[in-house]
Amino acid sequence: MHSDEYFMSIAIDLSKRSKYPYGAIVVKNGKIIGRSDSITNVSKTIYSHAQLIAIEDALCGNDLMDGLVGCTLYSSCEPCLMAMEAILYSGINKLIYGINIEASNLYYNHIEDFSILDIVKKINPHMNIIGGVLEQKAMEVISDYNKKIIESDEKFIDIAIDISKKSFYPFGAIVVRDEKIIGRSDDNVPSKNTVFQHAELIAIDAAVSNIKDSISRGNLHECTLYTSCEPCMMCQEAILAEGISRIVYAATIEDSNQYFCKEYPVSVKEIINRSNSQIKLVEKLHRDKAIVVLKEHGPL
Ligand SMILES: [Zn+2]
Repeated sequence: MHSDEYFMSIAIDLSKRSKYPYGAIVVKNGKIIGRSDSITNVSKTIYSHAQLIAIEDALCGNDLMDGLVGCTLYSSCEPCLMAMEAILYSGINKLIYGINIEASNLYYNHIEDFSILDIVKKINPHMNIIGGVLEQKAMEVISDYNKKIIESDEKFIDIAIDISKKSFYPFGAIVVRDEKIIGRSDDNVPSKNTVFQHAELIAIDAAVSNIKDSISRGNLHECTLYTSCEPCMMCQEAILAEGISRIVYAATIEDSNQYFCKEYPVSVKEIINRSNSQIKLVEKLHRDKAIVVLKEHGPL
């Protein structure tokens, strides 16, 4: 019989190969019967967490209710609220995980999760739960993933700043999905004095046009807007309306105020909080580079 560490190392290997840094397997009588990288009979959506994919794979089309009694779930990370629901319904008897939820939240681009293990233990006191198995290895995957995202953010914010150098006004923006630029503020360049043609609006507009299935607002989920300067209120409205998932900006509104022209000090962070949106925000990345462009352009 293989050890818990053996099976956990397989779950962690899956987490390295996944779009998001999580992996899970379901084991019955020492045999893997479900994997999070299985694509057969699994509907892939944004809600397809590793644990859910592994459970769905293990069920092989059978009912979820008590469909996995006698099974163990190995997950590189402590399951979230949603995955816990499926685990409880499935009748899984043993849950083994690597890192806890707090460690998972260190993932650069992660929505804050919280532990409900105490509730699960009350609902099913017979479930055997063991955490911290190969914790360090699971954490390394999160760290490596974070490094890749930060490198990617640095590459794309530099592109937005480069566009700002060549624009009529010293601002540049791009929209990126799956590492591909799908909208740029120098697409259909209005390199002239247009009042409402802000870089973010041009990039968002180009991105919407480039998405073939775009028939309504809100199609830019899973997209990141990289902009050389923190968006103004007008652009923030477009960001919310089109469902942008992440914003990475360089210079702040205050920087623009100081070096270029008057802007109203309504921070994007405040608007995100007020809108209850889950947009992720990366602030002041390569701010110094963007400030150089604002300074070189000079005041309006
Ligand atoms: Zn704007």
